[in-house]
Amino acid sequence: MKDFLVATGNAHKLIEIQQIIDAAGYSFTARGLKDFPAIVIPPEDGDTFAANAIIKAKAAAQQSGLIAIADDSGICVDALDGAPGIYSARFAADEGADHIDSRNNEKLLRLLKDVPDEQRGGHFACAIAIATPEGEVRTVEGRVYGVIAHAESGEGGFGYDPLFFVPELNKTLSEVTAEEKNAISHRGQALRLMLPILAEMLAD
Ligand code: IMP
Repeated sequence: MKDFLVATGNAHKLIEIQQIIDAAGYSFTARGLKDFPAIVIPPEDGDTFAANAIIKAKAAAQQSGLIAIADDSGICVDALDGAPGIYSARFAADEGADHIDSRNNEKLLRLLKDVPDEQRGGHFACAIAIATPEGEVRTVEGRVYGVIAHAESGEGGFGYDPLFFVPELNKTLSEVTAEEKNAISHRGQALRLMLPILAEMLAD
């Protein structure tokens, strides 16, 4: 059984990653930053999802001595020239609402108020970086394309999910099960691309 580190303090993310690993038949164990309280993750000041994921994965690998992975994700809206992108979590921070999903969604709806359906396209992106303590780094990226709805719909998921309508499903990402979301989501895709690379690195 080989351990690796996920550069996150989010227990939910850790469980989701372990489930995907187990389902794929691999026998390695994801540990989180909670097991390594001394690790200091520098500010995410990159200008792409991948750059931010690399910052976190490298720091975690160097300081733990384990292979480490980190992710960075967000929503990119065509009519806003790709915004909020890497600033998705703090989109409404200028309105005093850092990390508050409902305020982020309100702001997005407001900015798109006069944008017609055919121009409301966008995608979620998730970059994952995998780093070794020796400094080798690989990255993968997953995307899911959809349309920004005119109002929130559904109870599941988090963040921008209630506004993100996926035409093939005829539903928002808040109206599907976690399994259905994982099957198509940016994060699910990136994790599945990451697994064989992680397996190769852990085998070395
Ligand atoms: P991160 O945790 O730094 O990657 O920030 C990601 C931010 O992007 C979250 O706070 C959400 O606002 C948004 N986001 C990323 N992935 C999703 C998703 O699957 N559904 C909804 N919002 C997401």
